[in-house]
Amino acid sequence: MQLFQKLIDHNDAVRLVQENVRRLPVKTVPLVEARGLSLSEDLYARFDSPPFDNSAVDGYAVRSMDTEPGRTFEVVGEAPAGRPAEGSVGEGEAIKIFTGGVIPGGADAIVMVEDTSGWGEQFEIRKAVPPGNNLRQRGGDVREGDLILTAGTEIGAPEIALAATQGYGELPVYRRPRVVVLSTGTELVEPGTRELAPGEIFDSNSYALVAQALESGADARRVSAASDDADVLRTALDEALEDADVVVTSGGVSVGEKDLVKSTLLDLGVSQVFWGVKLKPGKPVFFGARDDDGDGVRFFGLPGNPVSAMVCFELFVRPALMKMTGREDRHRPLIDVYFDHHVENKFGRMHAMRVTLTRTEKGFRAESVGAQGSGLVSSLTKADALALIGPESEGVSAGEPVAAIILREDVLLKAASGT
Ligand code: AMP
Ligand code: MG
Repeated sequence: MQLFQKLIDHNDAVRLVQENVRRLPVKTVPLVEARGLSLSEDLYARFDSPPFDNSAVDGYAVRSMDTEPGRTFEVVGEAPAGRPAEGSVGEGEAIKIFTGGVIPGGADAIVMVEDTSGWGEQFEIRKAVPPGNNLRQRGGDVREGDLILTAGTEIGAPEIALAATQGYGELPVYRRPRVVVLSTGTELVEPGTRELAPGEIFDSNSYALVAQALESGADARRVSAASDDADVLRTALDEALEDADVVVTSGGVSVGEKDLVKSTLLDLGVSQVFWGVKLKPGKPVFFGARDDDGDGVRFFGLPGNPVSAMVCFELFVRPALMKMTGREDRHRPLIDVYFDHHVENKFGRMHAMRVTLTRTEKGFRAESVGAQGSGLVSSLTKADALALIGPESEGVSAGEPVAAIILREDVLLKAASGT
């Protein structure tokens, strides 16, 4: 058995994780597959967009200088979207035009059909219009050569729309990290398969951790829980390490006699970056790397207690996945919150406290969700944020700013709209 030699600070652990993960290789994906990935290169406009002057409405293209109310115009052609008119507009003439239609030669304004006597071979105009009226100018959206999207941007629907208007059928992105999640523990049973025998519990961690990995933009899958038997564990870890960029385990990483994850990993060629962090919950977290094949696998051994596992994922694994996938924003929102009473921290470790948040005139008031035991899964469903109360302090006084990681961003939105 091995005991923790030296616990490192939470900040050092976060830094070591970041220093020991790299962006994944770049690849090109079709537009339809790009959502949620990050651009690996700046993207520039290939041409002016829109590419030609066009009409913003359905109506008539005319010479603005002719638009005297009551005047009658001759309709000499038609310009629907996608089919430019053949002729041009002379004095007292008009070309019927629809939204997106190319502005015909001679015309410098569009009069809406609502401002005329209606559709026909002739019409009477009801309103004078200035030059440029209802006309969308070439390049009015972006100009050729403009930087339209910067490297590191997460690609969502608006980014896909913009790239498509510029004719990009594919985008250069960082590959998604492949994450394999493995629970360890002889007591674990697959939910939905059978009743529990005495001493057994259902495996919840692997499901939670896969969901967290997917939320972080990774491809993630779980493998069936491994028992604490040394050979079974070794085989399961060996397989997980084979086809993953990141392996996340839970359980078996503390100092118990059945905690074999760390020693098995070291045996399998994973080198330890750290083991043990001044953190509550999550003290036994292990982080290691195996770089044998160039690409390398990163390994997170998270504690078995469900709250510890999920909190450690937020603090260490999520930022690592965000870096691997090329995201510039590596963290969930971090804001200052306050408590309205003194909060103790007697642990000598940073306490990532589950809190609810309420918007007040002084900012965000945090309140503990209640009992903070690391096995209390239901407490996580109530938490809006993790308030980081910190290792050096004895605690925080009423009103003192405390950094908090926002777990539910809708809390910020609700607050902003005053509800
Ligand atoms: P360990 O870190 O393996 O000593 O586990 C600490 C506690 O977490 C024990 O009570 C375990 O039964 C529990 N635990 C471990 N793995 C899981 C899991 N996958 N799902 C739910 N609870 C777990
Ligand atoms: Mg265990």
